[in-house]
Amino acid sequence: MSLSVVHDPADVRARCDAFRAAGQRVGLVPTMGALHEGHLSLVRAVRDAGAQRVVATIFVNPLQFGQNEDLDRYPRTLEADTAMLRELGVDLVFAPAPSAMYPQGFQTEVSVHEVTKPLEGTFRPTHFTGVTTVVTKLFNIVGPSVAAFGRKDYQQWQTIRRMVTDLNMPIEVLGCPIVREPDGLAMSSRNRYLSSEERQKALGIIRGLRKAEAAFRGGERDAHALQALVTDEIKRPFDRIDYVSVADPETLVEVSESCGDRVVFLVAAHLGGTRLIDNLVVEA
Ligand code: AMP
Repeated sequence: MSLSVVHDPADVRARCDAFRAAGQRVGLVPTMGALHEGHLSLVRAVRDAGAQRVVATIFVNPLQFGQNEDLDRYPRTLEADTAMLRELGVDLVFAPAPSAMYPQGFQTEVSVHEVTKPLEGTFRPTHFTGVTTVVTKLFNIVGPSVAAFGRKDYQQWQTIRRMVTDLNMPIEVLGCPIVREPDGLAMSSRNRYLSSEERQKALGIIRGLRKAEAAFRGGERDAHALQALVTDEIKRPFDRIDYVSVADPETLVEVSESCGDRVVFLVAAHLGGTRLIDNLVVEA
C-alpha cells in the first residue's frame, strides 16, 4: 500500500478501523513534523514492536505552546516529511488543521498532575495539558496498539506512560533512545534555528551531561556536585538556563542530597531565541 496523507480525523478513523478489521495492529508515531532521524527511529520502533500498519501524525499543536513561544515560526515541512515517511513505508500521515482538532466549542482537557509539575512544567505551565489532550485525541482517532515517544522529551514520555496507566488506555507506550548527531547534539526540529556559532555552543549540554555521567560512574553521588558539573559546561555558552536537574528517573522529583544507583540529568537552556532540552539517564 502506498502512503496516504489525510487531513480529516473521521477519514483517519475509518482507515484505521479497516486495518484493525483486517487483523492488523496499528502503530502510532505522533510528531510536530520537521522530521529527522529521531522521528524516523520511532517509526522503526513501532514496527519492531509488531505494528503491521504505521500512522505518523504531523500536527503543530497550538495547545501545547505558551503565549511567547515559537508556534508561529515552528518549521512546517510537510512535503519533505511525507517523502521521508514514504521511504520508510509508513501507511498513513495524519496532518490535521488546528480547526479539525479544536473546532468551535472545544472545551475538554486531559491533565496529569504530579509528574508534570517540575522541570518543563515550571517553565511551560500549560504545555503538558496541551500534550496529554492532543495525544488522547490522537489515540482515540487512530486506535493504536502501540505508540512511540522519544526519551529526548523525557518528562513527556513519563507523563504519557502515567496517563495511559491511569486512564486504562489499551496502548503499549514505547520510550525510544535519544538519537544524536555525530558530535552528540540531540537531534531536534528546533536545531535548525541555530546559527553555526550557536550550533557549536549547543555542545556544552552534551559535554556537561557526559562529565556528570563520568563522575557518577566514578562513584560521585552528591547531587549538587553532579549538577554543578553539568551547569559548568552550560553557563558560559548559553544565554539562559531554565534548569539543570538531577532527578529520580520515574517520578522526576529532584534528588536533593545523595543519588541512588539510577538518576536522570535533565537540562533546558536558551541560546538566543532557541530553547534546547536534553537529558541522560545513568545507572551504576
Ligand atoms: P516533536 O516532533 O518534537 O514533537 O517530537 C515527536 C516525537 O519524536 C517525540 O516523542 C519526541 O520525543 C521524539 N523525538 C524528537 N527528537 C528525538 C530524538 N533526537 N531522538 C529520539 N526521539 C526524538
